[in-house]
Amino acid sequence: MKSYRKELHFHTKTRRAYINITTQVEVALAESGVREGLCLVNALNITASVFINDNESGLHRDFERWLEKLAPEKPYDQYNHNGSEDNADAHLKRTVMGRETVVAITNGKLDFGTWEQIFYGEFDGMRDKRVLVKIIGE
Ligand code: ZN
Repeated sequence: MKSYRKELHFHTKTRRAYINITTQVEVALAESGVREGLCLVNALNITASVFINDNESGLHRDFERWLEKLAPEKPYDQYNHNGSEDNADAHLKRTVMGRETVVAITNGKLDFGTWEQIFYGEFDGMRDKRVLVKIIGE
C-alpha cells in the first residue's frame, strides 16, 4: 500500500473566505501515484473547515449569511470563549461546516459526485493556517 502526505498552506487577507482547493488536491493525488484508494483532506486548525459542495458564488454568499445568523462574529462579548480571543464564532462555524472530507480515488481520479468540489472554509483568517492531504491506496 502507498501512503502520501502533503500540507497546503493558507493565509487569507480577510477574516472569512471560501477557497476552492480541488486543483491542489488533484495535484497531490498525481504526486502520490495512487490509482485506487482514499483521499482525506482535513483542516489542521480548529477555526477552519474542509467541505465538499458546489463551486457557485451565490451559494458561498448564502453560506456566509447563514453562518453569520447561526454564530454572528459580533458582539464579541456574547461568547464565553472570547476573553483573550475574539474567535468564538469561528470555532462554531467550523463545527457546523466540518473538519474534513474523504473522497474515493478511482482509476487515478477523485471520484466526485455531480458538481462536487473541495473547499477550504476560513473563519478566522489573516494568519497562517494549514490543511492536511493524506492519500492511501495502491
Ligand atoms: Zn479560540
